[in-house]
Amino acid sequence: MKRAKWLLLIVLVVLAFSKLFLWDRSPVPAHDFSYYLDDPSAMRLVEIMSGRSNPERRELVKKALEAGGVSYREEAVLNPVFSGSNVVVELGQGRDVLVFSAHMDRVEEAPGANDNASCVAAGILAMKELSRINPPEGLSVRFLFSDGEEAGLHGARHHAETQNLSNIFGVASFELCGIGDAYGVWDVVGPALGSPIVKALLKAGDNLKIYNGKHGAVPRFGSDHLAFSKKGLAAVGVTVLPQKDEEKLRSYVDDPNNPKWLLNFIRPTIFQTYHTSGDGPQTVDPPALELTTRLMLETIRVVGEMVKENG
Ligand SMILES: [Zn+2]
Repeated sequence: MKRAKWLLLIVLVVLAFSKLFLWDRSPVPAHDFSYYLDDPSAMRLVEIMSGRSNPERRELVKKALEAGGVSYREEAVLNPVFSGSNVVVELGQGRDVLVFSAHMDRVEEAPGANDNASCVAAGILAMKELSRINPPEGLSVRFLFSDGEEAGLHGARHHAETQNLSNIFGVASFELCGIGDAYGVWDVVGPALGSPIVKALLKAGDNLKIYNGKHGAVPRFGSDHLAFSKKGLAAVGVTVLPQKDEEKLRSYVDDPNNPKWLLNFIRPTIFQTYHTSGDGPQTVDPPALELTTRLMLETIRVVGEMVKENG
């Protein structure tokens, strides 16, 4: 009897570990696109994008835009080391162009839920709503769902090299939008210092009563905006985080090589799963995705006011 109990215990332990093991090894989602269509929420899109290959993620983005009635164009991104394509949504007829960006691709070792299916999914919902209400008069909104960011900003660089960059009001690249109740505007340096885009992003949060802050250079963690700031445009990163992590996150990005950060559990929350197998949909909070969609839409509204004031 005692021996049987031991045997049962061993079997249970082995099962528990094998489940963890499998979870780590194969983060392929259980659901397909119909799961999203049944209830087209940002969270469901994150769930179905997570763990899928980069070309599959891009196809899901296109299908989600189509399902939402949002038209887009595809921009081939081809160079000797990368081949893929950006998906670009352009809404409105205004002269000034506000550019948002969120990369669709993920690193191989991570399912890519928070990085960056979260921002992509929130962005698709924002574009869906914007195509219904239209951008403010005088403003066009371009959403760049970029490819190859993780491999070296290929999509954003290609876009910045080949597309018309005149009349760009500013660029905001959204990174990690699925964890937290606050947001930070970062890489506020160079042309972004004191720029209207930074003012608009912060004002939008204040209007919505969402805690926000700005941060200067973040040298180790770039994003798509760098392809645009290199061209002299005001371009910044935007990231959602738990408000309680603010100080920790600021010290982490200022000194990411400090050996103390090797202890994963003392890192700021969003960096505990960043580029690891733990970056699955289980870490993403639907309210953070909703916060991001609202922030995007309010920023567009605020920019519309600024453009109108300046004639
Ligand atoms: Zn990223």
